[in-house]
Amino acid sequence: MDKKIRKDGIYGTVFDKPVSVLIENIRNDMTVLRGRLSDINHEYTGWADRLKSVEGLLTCGIISLHSINDEIIKFEIKSDDIEFGKSIKFQPRGVGLDSVDYCYLCGSKHRDNENKQKDYMNNIAAFVETKELGEEIVGWFIKGARLDYRPSEPNWIQVKIGSCDKHLPNLKNLFDRTRVYGVIREHDIKQSILFEEKVDGIDNGQTDKSE
Ligand SMILES: [Zn+2]
Repeated sequence: MDKKIRKDGIYGTVFDKPVSVLIENIRNDMTVLRGRLSDINHEYTGWADRLKSVEGLLTCGIISLHSINDEIIKFEIKSDDIEFGKSIKFQPRGVGLDSVDYCYLCGSKHRDNENKQKDYMNNIAAFVETKELGEEIVGWFIKGARLDYRPSEPNWIQVKIGSCDKHLPNLKNLFDRTRVYGVIREHDIKQSILFEEKVDGIDNGQTDKSE
């Protein structure tokens, strides 16, 4: 992640995120603006002919920014690879519950840490491209990660990572780190293990001790 300190922009842009995220936010704003223009066109049909062309311009801009942002994202991933090590595609589906054997931090087999009945653990399930790449990711974890590979479904390969309730904030931190670009690094796993949730709730999960 680009953590360079820059002054806020003249128009209020806060440079606290990678530029690809800032551009994606602008795209989202443009989509909202286009929608508002479309609302007006529906209500005031007399002006629709004139306004339609501006709606089209916004559509061009939204599409154009998308393709530029694809290039920026590739560049940012490469830059982070140089700084933090190899990345592998990893598309997490959110944090849920699933059958994983251990917490990836403490090795607990029980979500509530009380050695009661074996139950589902907190879980990230993420799609990976191949069995081999999935195995490489699992190898970055000391424990608590497994590959869900079924020979009958070779295009449905997932890595599943578990946590107990106590270490759910760490698991969520790992999710936040990997979802932006859809890649994972060994560095992300180590940083998520070091992650400590701030009590006042101000921290947004970007507490990095090494960055
Ligand atoms: Zn744990």
